[in-house]
Amino acid sequence: MSATATAPIAPLIDPDAPAVRVRFAPSPTGSLHVGGGRTVLFNWLFAHGQAKREGKQGAFILRIEDTDQKRFVPASVQGIFDILTWFGVTWDEGPDKGGPYGPYTQSERTERYRAHAEQLVASGHAYRCFCSPERLQQVREAQQARGQAPGYDRHCRTLKPEEVAAKLAAGESHVIRFAIPLDGETRVFDLIRGEIVYQNANLEDLVLLKSDGYPTYHLANVVDDHQMQITHIMRGDEWIPTAPLHVQLYGAFGWEVPILAHMPLILAPGGGKLSKRHGSTAMEEFRAQGYLPEALMNYLALLGWSYDATTEIFSKEDLLEKFTLERVSPSPATFDYKKLLWFNQQYINHILTLDDLTARVVPFLIAAGLVDPAAADPAHPDYARIRAATALLKDRLETLAQASDLMGYFLRDELDPYDPALLVPKKTEPAQVLNALVAVQQTLNGVDVADEAEVETRLRALADERGLKTGQLFMPIRVAVTGRDKSPGLFETLRVIGNERVRARIAAAIELLREQVGAAVAGD
Ligand code: GLU
Repeated sequence: MSATATAPIAPLIDPDAPAVRVRFAPSPTGSLHVGGGRTVLFNWLFAHGQAKREGKQGAFILRIEDTDQKRFVPASVQGIFDILTWFGVTWDEGPDKGGPYGPYTQSERTERYRAHAEQLVASGHAYRCFCSPERLQQVREAQQARGQAPGYDRHCRTLKPEEVAAKLAAGESHVIRFAIPLDGETRVFDLIRGEIVYQNANLEDLVLLKSDGYPTYHLANVVDDHQMQITHIMRGDEWIPTAPLHVQLYGAFGWEVPILAHMPLILAPGGGKLSKRHGSTAMEEFRAQGYLPEALMNYLALLGWSYDATTEIFSKEDLLEKFTLERVSPSPATFDYKKLLWFNQQYINHILTLDDLTARVVPFLIAAGLVDPAAADPAHPDYARIRAATALLKDRLETLAQASDLMGYFLRDELDPYDPALLVPKKTEPAQVLNALVAVQQTLNGVDVADEAEVETRLRALADERGLKTGQLFMPIRVAVTGRDKSPGLFETLRVIGNERVRARIAAAIELLREQVGAAVAGD
């Protein structure tokens, strides 16, 4: 294989064609990899952004490629619809939407693939192969022993018609294989990679139709892309090795090859393929961890595409306005978890409105059991408290899921047990803190904690009176009401926790300290 970067073979968008039609064609075998998320995004942006900007109808088609029955995970079809909807892309035609070229699920189109495989047998471009799995295994082992690359040895390609007829009459199980030309070369024109030339002698006679009558990916994919009038095939780089066979198939059918554009690889931090070993890889995992679809979209858009050397934040609308396939680079992109987290933080801290952020935090709190499912209703009494807590904590949130850890003390009646030693700051003694908290209790008596200014004035005066640094007084209060030594500003924290819980928690801390001081006295 050799690659040469050449100018695009045709205008990127045919000026005479009324429509640009692209597709995302996932195999429902589990969750959607972020690489797939990036592929969907670029297809969608090309159809709904670039093509429409150029005055074309831009159609984005979702097709389910479920012909590999061994790897099929039925629930993942719905999973794909759900995660794409969450991600924020919309398809114009698809299994759930219908459209003029349906059905859009390959298992419902098997008759077409069978007919097309037979057509290629009839035209001499394909042949029936009766080789048993055992024979194929022997061939592979012999090739390995000779140090050759494994591949089908074309045993059945030269069967005589009467031999084929006899095997068929005897009901022998068989597959249909494509007959790759034995010499010459196959040229693949890729919009991003340039021209790639393959020597046919190095290509294999791959299976098109399996013995169970199901097509392989190659046959189904090519037939569908043609029948669905796909103009541009944009997919992951890992599909490049299949492109020469596909180009051959288009030729054998007498069809025009759509424009091919293989997206750059996504590498793991430090190189290599991005896999579970490096961290989350599925879109569903990022959703569950509280990444925002906007942040993930923004980040994935920049894996292989850039607008200029500096702009990083792109809303969905910005991307629709600015994305061009011409600016997708052939160089691999590295998946940087920290950078993704940074984008998420930007959206949480600066970009979403407080109401929007609150609405997205609530499901995580419900899932963690911190609030009742009814709290999702803005009219629910807990909602206002969640909103207030979100306002205080949003600058500390990197993901929505962190909210359940950070917001417990705002939302639960009882605090999680905490270490009483936290109540006693450096250079103070438990007895001293105990006295101070009793004084705090008295100072706050009758004061509404919603009146932050009044609470602050009183507590500062108390610290003065006791000869304590403010930190020495405020830290025990903070720990008493939150169970932690870190929280947002003390007075706003008290306000959101509310009168009743503040008082109960200070009383509980006093009890804890009494036990401690009592134990110390008893131990003297
Ligand atoms: N079904 C293939 C996949 O799962 C589609 C590849 C292509 O876009 O041609 O990725």
